[in-house]
Amino acid sequence: MFLRESLSRLFACFFLLLPMLGSGILAQSTANKAVGFDSAVRDDPDFARAVKEWTTRPEFMSPLVDHLPKVAGIPSPKDILGHHIGEPKKLTYYADILKYYRALAAATPRVKVVTIGKSNEGRDLVVVFVGGDESIRNLEAYRGYLAQLADPRTVTNAQAKEVIARAKPIYHLSGGLHSGEVGPSEMLMELAYRLATEDSALIKQIRDTVIVSITPVADPDGRDRNVDWYYKYGINETEGRTTGAGVPYWGKYVFHDDNRDINYSQVEMRALLDWYLQWHPPIMHDLHQAQTLLYTFSGQAPQNPNLDPILYGELPAMANFEMSQMTKYGMPGVWTHGFVDMWSPGYLAFMSSNHNGMIRMYEIQGFSGANTQKMRLGNPNGTGANGVGGPAPAGGGRGAGAPADPAAAVAGRGSQATRDWFRPLPATGEFDWSLRNNTNYGETGVLTALQYTSQFPKIILENFYVKSRNSVETGRKETVAGYVIPAGQRDMTRVERLINLLRLQGIEVGRASAEVKLTEGTFPAGSFIVKRDQPYSRLAKTLLEKQVYPDPNLRTYDDTSWTMGLMSHTEVKEIADKKILDLTVEPIKTAEIHLAGALKGSGSTVAVAHNGSNNMITLRYRLKDLTVQAAEKEFKQGDVTFPAGSFVIAGDVARVRSEVEKLGLTAVALPSAPQVPLHDLDLPRLAVYSIWGNTQEVGWVRYGLDRFEVPYDLIFKERVKKGDLRGSYDVILLPNQGGSGKRLVFDIENRGQPIAYKKSDQFKNLGMYGESDDITGGMGLEGVAEFEKFVKGGGVLVTLGTASYFPADFGLAPKVDAARTSGQFYAPGPIVNAEILKPEHPIFYGYDKKVVPVRYANGPLLSVQTGVNPFDGPPPPGPPPTPQSVLMRYPGGDDQVLSGLMRGAAEIRNRAAIVDEPSGKGRVILFAGNPCYRWQNFGEFNMLFNTVLNFNDIKSEPAKPATTDTPAR
Ligand SMILES: [Zn+2]
Repeated sequence: MFLRESLSRLFACFFLLLPMLGSGILAQSTANKAVGFDSAVRDDPDFARAVKEWTTRPEFMSPLVDHLPKVAGIPSPKDILGHHIGEPKKLTYYADILKYYRALAAATPRVKVVTIGKSNEGRDLVVVFVGGDESIRNLEAYRGYLAQLADPRTVTNAQAKEVIARAKPIYHLSGGLHSGEVGPSEMLMELAYRLATEDSALIKQIRDTVIVSITPVADPDGRDRNVDWYYKYGINETEGRTTGAGVPYWGKYVFHDDNRDINYSQVEMRALLDWYLQWHPPIMHDLHQAQTLLYTFSGQAPQNPNLDPILYGELPAMANFEMSQMTKYGMPGVWTHGFVDMWSPGYLAFMSSNHNGMIRMYEIQGFSGANTQKMRLGNPNGTGANGVGGPAPAGGGRGAGAPADPAAAVAGRGSQATRDWFRPLPATGEFDWSLRNNTNYGETGVLTALQYTSQFPKIILENFYVKSRNSVETGRKETVAGYVIPAGQRDMTRVERLINLLRLQGIEVGRASAEVKLTEGTFPAGSFIVKRDQPYSRLAKTLLEKQVYPDPNLRTYDDTSWTMGLMSHTEVKEIADKKILDLTVEPIKTAEIHLAGALKGSGSTVAVAHNGSNNMITLRYRLKDLTVQAAEKEFKQGDVTFPAGSFVIAGDVARVRSEVEKLGLTAVALPSAPQVPLHDLDLPRLAVYSIWGNTQEVGWVRYGLDRFEVPYDLIFKERVKKGDLRGSYDVILLPNQGGSGKRLVFDIENRGQPIAYKKSDQFKNLGMYGESDDITGGMGLEGVAEFEKFVKGGGVLVTLGTASYFPADFGLAPKVDAARTSGQFYAPGPIVNAEILKPEHPIFYGYDKKVVPVRYANGPLLSVQTGVNPFDGPPPPGPPPTPQSVLMRYPGGDDQVLSGLMRGAAEIRNRAAIVDEPSGKGRVILFAGNPCYRWQNFGEFNMLFNTVLNFNDIKSEPAKPATTDTPAR
């Protein structure tokens, strides 16, 4: 240990003191002035002095970033912001970041800013281009070249060669996706300035051969909120987060999950995808903060085998180049491999790999603020006291089953302070870490990546072209030749959504103009056809196939499955018959399709079939002033079957018709109401409860409710403690949050001072989506008592996922027990079968199958006692009967896993998936799973929506004598 440290210091000194002796970069950086083509370019002595002072150890600096040009007429970051990048205790608000880039663009032809959309809170989303004068002048031409390479069907191989000769790769950099990871968004401003102004041989080479594009802050709303929080609380912290709490919100809905938004639901992510599909940057590089001191992603196992094998060569090649270059500069702690993997395609920068480009990613050491803080490395916990700089709401965003501390992902390989084959020069010991160190590492890494790109620009373009070409060709050769999404499915609104999500990602979909006969079956005219001989054929397969996890012993960072057909309960047929490639189809040219609904017949009463469309609840709310009833039994009208749960609406047929058509539903106007039992679909006063310490999964439920136009109040402990919940609400929904009942009740620990989340003149971004004088302490036992009063008084409490520990643990559903799986169990988001036991229960309106695919959410293992008296003697032989209150259960076992990984699948055998437990005048409905998971498991959303719409129509069956529900082993 001692020897290694001494050596690393020795190397660091060697390179820092004797740069002129080196060759290549080392010589270039300081020879800058001598070889510059523009004699006006001089380095700024004030910059050199300041960054040297802010860099806490000499080896945390590199020869690429220890200087910065000063150019008359072109503003440096300091000229606009008033300080150099990396000054302690200085973070930049988004408006000032934009101000800087716009000032830079106004001053030099080498920078251009384009607006690509608006954030949820109305901030401009931009992409900043930086390149040589010629590159920026001819950006449109370069965009055209990349578009040709992205669709190899438009060019012959010979033409592609010519295009490659003329083209330049776009290297896209993105910071601020995670708002607590503040450094890269600061650094990128300096990088842009440096790329535009420096005349060293390296920067000139990058400028001439590469076009750099930058997302300054991927989540600007969250950025500003986090900067507010930093100036309010973080600026006083010296070691770790002494207040014990991070800012309750980043973006409007989500925290880290903007990097898990596989269906691009969030406007910021969608804007970037739209931009991507116009510009086709062959490389997208996301800059994060979490690892010591810089981790560069190399695409480790488990890997998605659909992606081009070339990619798996490219990723470690670049990562190893960065690691060796930065090690050469004497910078310790640069490593690759061993963190994050290449399985889930839902990370934001995967938009590049999914479209035949290259995802790249850094995790750079940093904190959520700009204070210099102590780091201790070398302890068994890996990152030390302050190793991780995220916002740290526990469970705040990583997939279920993933380690809470990302460092645990590499724990098996020892701490980040130990040497390994992928970490040849680890950082060790105790030292201060500053924002400028973060800037030095990030900028040196990125410049090194750009150096590599500028050394091999044609190889990168050629690879991009060949990967695109291979995608078309493998689609012709591989077993799976395409997919059919048949027309005539019961609920075509889910088909519409699935097609639109494929189209959003640029996947080509056609519509069969006639009946289709293939080995796999005959499909009606109008069926949707996805052929695999298209540039994005690999992505289509990745999204539509069942995920076969390669090695159950491997852990992964996020979900193991995402199969769109299973997630949305939509029939998607995998086709091997090569005839599919020759089918005549009408290509869908629009970004979206709309499958209009229809209202047939005449009469004054309208029946709307509940075939499981999530739009049913939207219809109900759009018609909130009309009386809408639900049929409790199936009925038929002509050739239309109306399953139980179908709506019966009296009056205003024209308005109902208009909404039915817009919402893609099936309806018939009847002369009179059908002769089946009906109940009124009253609209509940709905609240969604959120703790302060974990708002993200609540955010996904809010997003789902907002998208389907369901109004609700978002309430916190402040409202619960006021009491009389029943006076205000009929249904209170507790989304998955907190991880345990205890956490849900006691939430953020109070460390002696109140922590307010409130708007003020100084902090305008706080107090949004909720306000609190003190976010610590949780609702406490007095809150539990209020929830109990609510239920006993006739309210319906609905708990999802881990929130279902709460009613079980705190006696609100006294017969329900909530247990945990064993340490061997591992189920990162697989799709499994669930068996509906009470198909007549309103929760299952619209479901026509007894066994349905659901995403397993790692909620509690629920079981229900049925009032057995232990003094009655032993239970009767045979399997115990399932209690009446269990509405759905997991059959469990390996053969019930449909997609992805569940290790130890027998542990969930016959465990309750949904329990409906009457209590007093009200009831508690516990979902072990999460029927509103991200913007993904649309097939389950209706179980939640049906609960809301039928809240006061759920009838309890009389309890039958039964024994304790002991799950089968
Ligand atoms: Zn991150």
